[in-house]
Amino acid sequence: MMHHDDFCADPAWARAQDAADPLRALRGEFLIPPHAGGEQTYLVGNSLGLEPRGVRQVLIDELDDWARLGVEGHLHARHPWLPYQREVRDGLAEIVGAEPVEVVAMNSLTTNLHLLLVSFYRPTPARHAILIERHAFPSDRDLAASQIRFHGFDPAQALLEVDPDEAGGTLSMAAIEHALAEHGQRIALVLLPGVQYLTGQAFDLAAITELAHAQGCVAGFDCAHAAGNIDLRLHAAGCDFAAWCSYKYLNAGPGAIAGAFVHARHARARLPRFEGWWGRNQATRFQMRPEFDAAPGAEGWQLSNPPILALAPLRASLELFQRAGMQRLREKSKRLTAYLAWLIETQLADTLEIMTPAAPDRRGAQLSIRVRAGRDAGQSLFDYMTAHGVLGDWREPDVMRIAPTPMYNTFADCLRYVETAKAWRRQHA
Ligand SMILES: *Cc1c(COP(=O)(O)O)cnc(C)c1O
Repeated sequence: MMHHDDFCADPAWARAQDAADPLRALRGEFLIPPHAGGEQTYLVGNSLGLEPRGVRQVLIDELDDWARLGVEGHLHARHPWLPYQREVRDGLAEIVGAEPVEVVAMNSLTTNLHLLLVSFYRPTPARHAILIERHAFPSDRDLAASQIRFHGFDPAQALLEVDPDEAGGTLSMAAIEHALAEHGQRIALVLLPGVQYLTGQAFDLAAITELAHAQGCVAGFDCAHAAGNIDLRLHAAGCDFAAWCSYKYLNAGPGAIAGAFVHARHARARLPRFEGWWGRNQATRFQMRPEFDAAPGAEGWQLSNPPILALAPLRASLELFQRAGMQRLREKSKRLTAYLAWLIETQLADTLEIMTPAAPDRRGAQLSIRVRAGRDAGQSLFDYMTAHGVLGDWREPDVMRIAPTPMYNTFADCLRYVETAKAWRRQHA
């Protein structure tokens, strides 16, 4: 257990923390869903981030520009549609620790990972395995298995899954190191998460990349739960590629446009890829030549002209990240999550067990929790919390995930979670 002498399970203390929070004004920029005449205690921004108030207006502006300008909006909209991707690129690059040329906003997450695997998973008879983790998000497992089959190999022997080896179901670096030492010569690609969706474990991307590269493997990361959550440094980590969605911590709305990262060292490499006209150099794109002239960097993976109505909310959301600063957000996040963990460990240790690692650099905002009394009790607690307006989410078979996000959650929210869980415990004792 971690010791925090200054934490206190007292509503007045939590309110004072919130009043002193330099980021407290950001909460007012979000629409918090209502509950029983008040607001929900929304601890599920890891699944779907809340709507920034500014989103409605940016969408109305795009609709108005379309009405007013028709096709001329491509060049003359207030935010011209033709180069619109550039309006979000630098902000995204800052959040994931990348150079602008390494980042593009396009498509959805699973689509981006498939497109990146087309370029970065180049299997040979001797080296065609993909290394993932045992309880990977189903879409990640699906995309890896189907890529293996697409190339004529068999996932039964080519999809390697590292087993969790730590108490909470998390993975040690030693386990990853061992898998790479044992199978590295037949692994073409290592595809791991930045933050694991089920356990909330954050991985050391630089260390994994180094191990993978030492074995001659490509290293790619799914940063769905990492982007806007932890202090990503994709460029410095040296990984070959990454992708993420923007509807979780990035608050860009359901099904929002996703992001992709291709390391700068591949910016001008002539990698095989699935091509489309939007991946061409901006300067020559409209010359309608027969040959594909790839734009340097991640933009060269674009296929189509971008969906403006899916990009606009991301632009509004990134303004808030700009205002907050990723570093300040992360500082608040560490303290907020440490407070929630401390509350659970000091008030509910007989009832709840935290699976997520305790070390601040091994987790983001999210805590994954098991109810000691088992799955049915877990489901009962979850239903009780939801009925009382305390929102987390439930992942089969028996995990409740809660994420105090630093953008809009408060110390008071953390305390409310624990007080509500204690009320449930009193009823079920
Ligand atoms: C959220 C999430 C997804 C979702 O994929 P979409 O293509 O956006 O539907 C995939 N993988 C991981 C690890 C996720 O956390």
